[in-house]
Amino acid sequence: MSELRAPLRELLAFVRELYGAAGPIPLHAPVFAGNEKRYLAECIDTTFVSSVGPFVDCFEQMMQDITGAKYAVATMNGTAALHMALILAGVTDGDEVITQPLSFVATCNALAYQRAQPVFVDIDPDTLSLSPAALKEFLESRCERVAGACRHRETGRRIAAVVPMHTFGLPGRAQELAEICERWHLVLVEDAAESLGSTIGGRHTGTFGKLGTFSFNGNKTVTSGGGGAVVTDDPALARRAKHLTTTAKVPHRWDFFHDEVGFNYRLPNLNAAVACAQLEQLEGFLANKRATAQAYAARCAQLGIPFAQELAGTRSNFWLNAILVDDAAERDAFLQAANDGGIQARPVWQLMPELPAFASATCGPLDHARAAAARIVNLPSSVRP
Ligand SMILES: *Cc1c(COP(=O)(O)O)cnc(C)c1O
Repeated sequence: MSELRAPLRELLAFVRELYGAAGPIPLHAPVFAGNEKRYLAECIDTTFVSSVGPFVDCFEQMMQDITGAKYAVATMNGTAALHMALILAGVTDGDEVITQPLSFVATCNALAYQRAQPVFVDIDPDTLSLSPAALKEFLESRCERVAGACRHRETGRRIAAVVPMHTFGLPGRAQELAEICERWHLVLVEDAAESLGSTIGGRHTGTFGKLGTFSFNGNKTVTSGGGGAVVTDDPALARRAKHLTTTAKVPHRWDFFHDEVGFNYRLPNLNAAVACAQLEQLEGFLANKRATAQAYAARCAQLGIPFAQELAGTRSNFWLNAILVDDAAERDAFLQAANDGGIQARPVWQLMPELPAFASATCGPLDHARAAAARIVNLPSSVRP
């Protein structure tokens, strides 16, 4: 194991200073400092613990208020939200969907549930999210518009949708992607699982396409234990999302009639109760996380370590702070030293085309994603007391 560069050792000492002297420092631990217990007790006292209840409605309303989307539909997790959004986007058997190779596996799993193939297009090195320039290049050199659809010339398949992801909460170039999708008859579905509270020109991530999805998993900025949401401005899509996530049951006081194959993707009221209490604290969480990111950024600047920053005109939620080290060997040495010292730093996900399930997918040039995957280290980013 090679000796760690002095600036990286000093950064580890700074993480310790920031998060307190003793004990392990997790990557991202939840903070329950609001009405969580009170709302949970309310669920139990009223017996509304399952998939209907006032907190589900409250959660959906809060998500509409926070994102500015006209409709929000609660789901049991972010993966279910993505699956639902892809169904609503019309993605089906044999379609291809363009996405970024640098993401959590849920994005590609949701595509696979619809028996669609991913097509991997590079990220921008500054946002770590899908690159509009790379998307445009891929479409112009390898695709054609046929009868109001986008066709991939090599495979002959339809490309139905584009699914970018706002990596670590840093807003990507969603407006540019939306404009390209419009010209190429592609549905834009934003995976905003990591970017609750992140905005572009004041507009919330997840609202630039036809549909956006969020996650409330245990390690996200706001958690409900497990949970997700689909947002859209389209009333018909919102109605259909509610219907399909509710076993496609036609509402009736006693009759069980399901008009198609549906899903049990609803969010239990118990989880929605925690989500509501957490969302009440969102502004505080965001301010706290921004202060942490600024502290990291200032220290990294002094130490000459590149730190992942938001683009001008955007606001990141700084879900996970990220630095870039020189190469994979240095990354591994840093991870070793950090974790040996009780600091839970971690690498970014392995690129999706490296996973067995997606190894045969079409890829554009992925130079920026490969460099990022080798060099990114995530630092502890929890809300600080
Ligand atoms: C967390 C996450 C999801 C959804 O995950 P769930 O655990 O199913 O809520 C989807 N995409 C990305 C990029 C994520 O980080």
